[in-house]
Amino acid sequence: MSDNSTKESTPNHFIRQIIEEDLSSGKVQSPFTRFPPEPNGYLHVGHAKSICLNFGLASEFQNARCNLRFDDTNPTKENIQFAESIAEDVKWLGFHWHQEPKYASDYFEAMYQFAVELIKAGKAYVDSLSAEQIRECRGTLTEPGQNSPFRDRSIEENLSLFERMKSGEFKDGEHLLRAKIDMASPNMNMRDPALYRIRHEHHIRTNNDWCIYPMYDFAHCISDALEGITHSLCTLEFADHRPLYNWILENITIEGRPQQIEFSRLNLQYTVTSKRKLSQMIDEGIVEGWDDPRMPTISGMRRRGYTPASIRDFCERIGITKKDNVIEMGVLENCVREDLDKNAERAMAVLRPLKVVIENYPDDKLEKLTAPKHPQQDMGSRDIYFSKEVYIDEADFRESANKKYKRLVLGKEVRLRNAYVIQCHDVIKDSDGRITELRCTYDAETLGKNPEGRKVKGVIHWVSAQKSQSATIRLYDRLFSQPDPADIKDFHEALNPESVEILTDCRVEEGLADVVAETRFQFEREGYFVADRHECRPGHLVFNRVVTLRDTWAKIEAGDVN
Ligand code: ATP
Ligand code: MG
Repeated sequence: MSDNSTKESTPNHFIRQIIEEDLSSGKVQSPFTRFPPEPNGYLHVGHAKSICLNFGLASEFQNARCNLRFDDTNPTKENIQFAESIAEDVKWLGFHWHQEPKYASDYFEAMYQFAVELIKAGKAYVDSLSAEQIRECRGTLTEPGQNSPFRDRSIEENLSLFERMKSGEFKDGEHLLRAKIDMASPNMNMRDPALYRIRHEHHIRTNNDWCIYPMYDFAHCISDALEGITHSLCTLEFADHRPLYNWILENITIEGRPQQIEFSRLNLQYTVTSKRKLSQMIDEGIVEGWDDPRMPTISGMRRRGYTPASIRDFCERIGITKKDNVIEMGVLENCVREDLDKNAERAMAVLRPLKVVIENYPDDKLEKLTAPKHPQQDMGSRDIYFSKEVYIDEADFRESANKKYKRLVLGKEVRLRNAYVIQCHDVIKDSDGRITELRCTYDAETLGKNPEGRKVKGVIHWVSAQKSQSATIRLYDRLFSQPDPADIKDFHEALNPESVEILTDCRVEEGLADVVAETRFQFEREGYFVADRHECRPGHLVFNRVVTLRDTWAKIEAGDVN
């Protein structure tokens, strides 16, 4: 199943409608959302959907706000580098959080007090069963669970045990604080869920202050309420947690009444987004890191050359619904293709250079020509250089070819884009029969116009051999060659063995000599490219292919490989 929805077909989504209704009924005065990532990995394209939704809503409504709140309740997997990368990615996408970033750990003391309140009300108890025994007592979807033998501990005993849990008297897993709700509830989340567990771990913010940590379900609703969040937006798998979210807030003394609203998560073809699998790919060296340009992380997409606007546009196009679906990769790629088609400067780059000697051109002449930076947009012009020796791409020459081949053929003519018409007279080969050089002549009358009486149809790109820059160009493609890698038991089987091809002897036009990292171009006839954020610098040019000019995968998927 796939979804090809475009902007036109995206209606005012249901969450925006709820907020509008809440505003007009007076239930809410100033909408307040939050984006609550766990700092245990880098953000990925799925998170972008949630970011655009939460921060996007906050920027649409007057007086609306959105918090960035780190869900740092599990000290084992979290670190500061992840938190920093998350904040950077949100900013890069073009969003601003309200005040300073928040942390669930800011509220650890308050949460502890709320837990004590539940115990005092007889609504929480310390359980001393092992994790395995608790699992055995949980029941199944069709059978009720069984009460723990510790469920009826006195309030005093619970208070004392919980206090001792906090002060570090017990080992991990020895005790657990649970809500006392209903072991027979049809909703498993309501069968006396865990609220606090013992973890003797160093925490990124609270260091060793705590050795008990609140569970996500307990921490999340309290954080939302304390911050005054009005609309707590999350993905569908949390729908079953909503009764618990509300139960906790109803049973403690707290003011805020945020409403949890669920929407469907982003599933993208040819992509895995599980943090576990992403970090496995890094550990195994399948990719080079979290920001490898093939990764579906925000930082990977950034390095690949995606623009913030193209990612926001994508999130807009896919819309917000409650329906599970899988988005075609082509939708994402089209967003960046359209953005760059409109906004990226044009340049010429020869990926696999073949030397062309123009015999009737003066030996040491270097001619400055101009070319538009963009064919439609008013971006001005750029200087390009013509000389006796130029490079064209190997793929743009054949010794013989039929009429369909509109490039250079031995004995025939072709136009060098933005320059002259040349004709090929001779081919020079090495001892292995490889073509090493073409001998051509140029027609001086053909700059910007067709030769008298003849129409030259083919146009190819080129650069001057004397005045051009050497570059490394990395041709990235999809990391997976199967559309559903997330559903395959072993994702390795779905990897695309040709997800990158590195070309080290490319030539790009002289004007790119001092290109600024992250500048994007259309290399004419080749695709869209970006100057690599980390490696590209003057004297060491490195470009990444963002996306091809056309959707070549659409053809493959349609079974039309030609
Ligand atoms: P993963 O399962 O990839 O590890 P996660 O959901 O555990 O991701 P969090 O850091 O907890 O990661 O997610 C922060 C927020 O982003 C949550 O509100 C979550 O619902 C949302 N989110 C995560 N993945 C997606 C997705 N694929 N589509 C939409 N929202 C998502
Ligand atoms: Mg999570």
